[in-house]
Amino acid sequence: MEYVCLQCRKDVTDENLNKRIRCPFCGSKILLKKSTNVERKVKAL
Ligand SMILES: [Zn+2]
Repeated sequence: MEYVCLQCRKDVTDENLNKRIRCPFCGSKILLKKSTNVERKVKAL
C-alpha cells in the first residue's frame, strides 16, 4: 500500500511505516492512500 503525506507531499509506503500510520519524514499522521486501480480493496486482518 502506498500513501501520500498531506503535509510534506512525499510518498510513503507501508514499508516505511512501523505499524502506525505516520509520515517518517515530517511525522504527520494524515496520509492519503494512493488509490489507482484498486479501490477499497482492503485486506482483512
Ligand atoms: Zn510528511
